[in-house]
Amino acid sequence: AAGEHEMDASIMEGRGLNAGAVASVARIRNPIDLAAKVMTDSEHVMLVGEGAEEFARQQGFAMTDSDYFHTEFRWQQLQRIKEKEARQKKVTDQDQHDQWFSTVGAVALDQRGNLAAATSTGGTSNKRWGRVGDSPIIGAGTYASNHSCAVSATGHGEYFIRHVVAYDICKRVELGSSLAEAADVVINGILKEAGGSGGVIA
Ligand code: ASP
Repeated sequence: AAGEHEMDASIMEGRGLNAGAVASVARIRNPIDLAAKVMTDSEHVMLVGEGAEEFARQQGFAMTDSDYFHTEFRWQQLQRIKEKEARQKKVTDQDQHDQWFSTVGAVALDQRGNLAAATSTGGTSNKRWGRVGDSPIIGAGTYASNHSCAVSATGHGEYFIRHVVAYDICKRVELGSSLAEAADVVINGILKEAGGSGGVIA
């Protein structure tokens, strides 16, 4: 909403439930690398804002300026939402939908059966300064456990946080659901009924 960029990212290994996350970082070129560093080289799971950037500097990450994150597509999206707000028009479902498409997710399974998931995002367009979505929240936007599955989510983050979507899918798989069934129940059932939308790769 302030015309700036803030990124969130998280990564999780299914073998030991190791995880790392960063939120509200503005100057890290690849926030997912920093999330991985939090996982492997700190005793914490999540670092945010200036604290995360200080950790990045200590770990030798190069800082980048905000131009690097500018894309015309997202800038125009923001302008459309702001114009609509200025005309005091109701923000529709389509506008909500237009707010995403910035998220990158990945899940992986290696030859030994180890799972991993990672999610990285610029968040929703026109988000408030300091707003953090589901992407860096372990259990909401990202989850991996060798006992079940690996999930990375995209969509209306507030709903994914409230419904702990990634963990819920994994727990259902652990209890015997197929992956497709678990994802369908959570995304097309629970999330949709609550008014949220989005998707997962799992
Ligand atoms: N889930 C992200 C968030 O709410 C947005 C997205 O998937 O594009 O921050």
